[in-house]
Amino acid sequence: MKSILVDFDLLTGLSDERESVQRRLSDMDGMYADKDAYDAMIVRDDTLVYEFFDMGLPETEGGIAFGTSMTYPGKVGSEFFMTKGHFHSILDTAEVYYCLRGKGIMLMEDSEGNWEARELEPGLAVYVPEGYAHRSINTSPDDTLVTFYAFRADAGHDYGTIETKGFRKIVVEKDGIAQVIDNPKWKE
Ligand code: MN
Repeated sequence: MKSILVDFDLLTGLSDERESVQRRLSDMDGMYADKDAYDAMIVRDDTLVYEFFDMGLPETEGGIAFGTSMTYPGKVGSEFFMTKGHFHSILDTAEVYYCLRGKGIMLMEDSEGNWEARELEPGLAVYVPEGYAHRSINTSPDDTLVTFYAFRADAGHDYGTIETKGFRKIVVEKDGIAQVIDNPKWKE
């Protein structure tokens, strides 16, 4: 294959040359803890929660998949807008996220119950280790969380485990600040 040159806007994360993958509230049924708040919101507007640019590169062992991810500000009840989150199908593959804009948390957990929550703000890169599911969460009241990500191109995505079980922790606003608390819906 040939080299690729891509233009990403550092403030918006957007690229003129590509179509983004968009996820709306309706794509995340059952993923937020407060079902009543979710149902009330979706009646009003099927809000865009996040989008990302997938470069569509060949899924080879030696390749690197990369792109930008934009999570928009908002909450369902007290729970901040977030990405669905996923494990990689090839579990022992890591990923790096570099924050370009906004403020948020990278929530991670492995299948043994270890979890981590790392701050995201411009200039910080989070290394998501092998074996950890990961989810971006926007904790800003009004700004988009923009990250640049890169991972082994053949890693693949397992969304089903998180869609079914969720993460052990959720991030909510409490007393005006973002707090990591136990997910009331999580079951072993
Ligand atoms: Mn990933």
